[in-house]
Amino acid sequence: MHVLTGPEDARKHVAYWAEEGFTSFKAYMRITRAELAAAIEESHKRSLKLAGHLCSAGYGEAMAMGIDSLEHGPVFSDSEFDPNKKPDVCPSQVSWFSGWANTAIASPPVQDLIRDLVSYHVVITSTLPVFEQLVPGRPPLQERVLDAMASESRLSYLAQRAGGGSPALGLTVPWEQLLKKEMEFERAFVKGGGLLLAGPHPTGIGGVLPGFDDQRELELLVEAGFTPLEAIQIATHNGAQYLGQLDRIGTIVPGKHADLVVIKGDPSKKIEDIENVGMVFKDGVVHSTLRNSLSQCAVRWASGRACGSPKSKRLMHHLRDLDRQTGRSSTVFHSVLNSVSRRCGPGIHLGGCARITVLGNNPLD
Ligand SMILES: [Zn+2]
Repeated sequence: MHVLTGPEDARKHVAYWAEEGFTSFKAYMRITRAELAAAIEESHKRSLKLAGHLCSAGYGEAMAMGIDSLEHGPVFSDSEFDPNKKPDVCPSQVSWFSGWANTAIASPPVQDLIRDLVSYHVVITSTLPVFEQLVPGRPPLQERVLDAMASESRLSYLAQRAGGGSPALGLTVPWEQLLKKEMEFERAFVKGGGLLLAGPHPTGIGGVLPGFDDQRELELLVEAGFTPLEAIQIATHNGAQYLGQLDRIGTIVPGKHADLVVIKGDPSKKIEDIENVGMVFKDGVVHSTLRNSLSQCAVRWASGRACGSPKSKRLMHHLRDLDRQTGRSSTVFHSVLNSVSRRCGPGIHLGGCARITVLGNNPLD
């Protein structure tokens, strides 16, 4: 990651990438106030938006500069609640987390923060699955998510999770309390009129994957106290609204893009049903989960591994039947095989290739 050398560099950086066609920017933790102000000004001059995952600068400072969105929520990214915070310095996370641990959401400083966020029209993006990975005792990752990881990534993730989530910070941080506090903040923010968005943000000690964790985010929003319908709206409508694209996407209305997920079950009543993806339409074209399962199976097959589960075997047989009936080879199967053979030379583990292919086909990608 490029480390800025000052406000002029920040301005140039935004200008360069905007010219290259980038449409939004994210300022990262150690940006100084002067650099942040310059980057925001340059983005707004071009009618582009700037998000912040902050630390050196606080939420209050960023809001006054006109920042558009703040990522991850304040419990994990607003250092102004550290009583020892120094200007332009990112404090130790242990220090600022304990500041949050000792601050109630109902307290005046947090209520003032919510009021300011709402009046400055600054949105917050919820990324609860990232933090869940840091909390000891939370449910393990589902098999389907582990299966989609490269083997090295899986091992690294499992080792970190077994070690208590964040080896750098250890158990000195009350992770569970902080996760609950972030959930409570997000509820209070929306109740106060704030626009909350949802994103998986694929980090979280390597255990957060796009698609799967978009689904997990919805489940955690419901655990936070939103109704399933509110959670679905946060993950669909609100993002489109923030991006100024509500006239094209974000809700199901005649005339909008037909980007649809058809669920087996009723996630408006039982949010876990969101995992049961039946069919996916992208721009009106159907992509079924059968295709995804076949792709995964084909990746295994191509690497010399049998398609393990009875379901996978059935799918492979189904594929071969299809080929026999149609007299031609399945496009899905062959495009997967081609992409595997292009990407996977001998000695490269299947996992890395599987990840590329399977995630590329993920229904919620
Ligand atoms: Zn971030």
